[in-house]
Amino acid sequence: MNKFYTQFNDILKNQPAYRVKQIKQAIFVELIDNWDKAMTLPKDLRIELAKKLPLEIKAQIFESKDEDAAKALITLSDGLKVETVLMKHNRRNTVCVSSQVGCPLGCKFCATGAMGFKRNLETWEIVSQVLFFARILKAQGDRVDNIVFMGMGEPFLNYDNVMEAIRIINDPHGLSIGIRHFSISTIGIIEGIEKFADEKMQVNLAISLHAPDDRTRIGIIPCGKKYTIHKILEAVDNYIAKTNRKVMFEYLLIKDVNDSDEFALKLAKLMKKPLYFVNLITYNKTGAYQPPSTDKIKHFKDILEKNRVFTTLRYRFGADIEAACGQLAAKNK
Ligand code: SAH
Ligand code: SF4
Repeated sequence: MNKFYTQFNDILKNQPAYRVKQIKQAIFVELIDNWDKAMTLPKDLRIELAKKLPLEIKAQIFESKDEDAAKALITLSDGLKVETVLMKHNRRNTVCVSSQVGCPLGCKFCATGAMGFKRNLETWEIVSQVLFFARILKAQGDRVDNIVFMGMGEPFLNYDNVMEAIRIINDPHGLSIGIRHFSISTIGIIEGIEKFADEKMQVNLAISLHAPDDRTRIGIIPCGKKYTIHKILEAVDNYIAKTNRKVMFEYLLIKDVNDSDEFALKLAKLMKKPLYFVNLITYNKTGAYQPPSTDKIKHFKDILEKNRVFTTLRYRFGADIEAACGQLAAKNK
């Protein structure tokens, strides 16, 4: 079940129990990037750990002009690359992690979708993305506050590894990031939403809706054919009945595709439930579409609010370093 700690325990099985604690402390609290720095451990164990659980993370880092975002292009052990973004907003540090290399779902507006699917990330590869920025922030006397699964890939198509990574990042003896500070965004994988409802985990759930009717949605999200809006909302209502938690519906505004008054009104109708709220996202240009004008976006928001739908507008981070939502697509050579 818990592959990561099984691997740990395998390494440590001939060691006294307190070693596990020391090792966790070194990785997740001291945030060391090399086993040589784990001075509490005997040398032969450090050598073994360096071989079996290397801490070095190979990455290129890009910083945005306004210093509100940084992007890491991480090279995995098989040479594939994955992107992770740090966003700084309201004095909070949010790490946007990837769950897959590429994505098999091919949404028309998404750069990750356009690159196709390479493979799922291992638990440790997900955790490492957070460690990478946690180390940098620690050196600045700061820490990671929030984790969002909004990077490359569909988290519910890599369900077990994502859940295991959350448990590790949340561990109070480790990075200790509060469970309410995690968010998972899904395109609407029903099986994932159903399983997630039974986790009894206070992680936030976000659904990428992006259109209020199936025809428009399928035009931009091919898997909308299988996962219809009706089925998604049914699964979400079930989730809410079990957890009593709020659910965020992301709505990507694309010029002349889903930004008219008619769409706003249709969306408002769908969203009239107590624990639903809408987060409007401006399309970041990655391909053929255009974003609507700022006025048009405000107008869309007004219509939702007049219809008593709680609505937020997502702040745009790091567009200049291609670190904004949907712009992540590592060039894997
Ligand atoms: N696969 C998941 C999570 C990763 S995408 C999902 O789709 O929800 C995270 C968010 O970025 C989603 O809401 C996605 O729809 C959005 N996104 C994708 N492409 C975008 C683009 N070009 N501009 C703005 N947001 C985009
Ligand atoms: Fe995959 Fe999400 Fe991009 Fe769609 S929007 S292709 S589900 S990462």
